[in-house]
Amino acid sequence: MVPRIDVRNLVARKIFTGELEFGFDADSGLIDLPYAEFSSPVKAELHYEIFADDKVEVTGKLSFSLKGLCSRCLAEAEEEIVYGAEGVFSLSPKEEEYEYSNGFVDLREFLRDSVLFALPSRLLCRACAEEESE
Ligand SMILES: [Zn+2]
Repeated sequence: MVPRIDVRNLVARKIFTGELEFGFDADSGLIDLPYAEFSSPVKAELHYEIFADDKVEVTGKLSFSLKGLCSRCLAEAEEEIVYGAEGVFSLSPKEEEYEYSNGFVDLREFLRDSVLFALPSRLLCRACAEEESE
């Protein structure tokens, strides 16, 4: 499950930074590669910081694996993906910021966007990946 950040409660307790670690199932509809699917839940390791102007910055790492057919040779392929994610949540968001309200930061839209950015445009089996890196 995706936790929410209870900003009001944290600020009342003078806690302004923290860590979140959780796993969630990403929406397979995000994948634009033929025959590919998530072969693991997405693991999120995030750090948050609450600023004096009520903005909340979330940074961290998403990792998951993707399996499917190699985009070059159609052999079975599986790739581990690690992505550095960051987002800013604001009560009155500007461009590229996420909105939050009622004291709770809901991470779901941010996570969905981050998984989308993390997805590769193609999947390569080990042999093809080695060949390309030569
Ligand atoms: Zn291949």
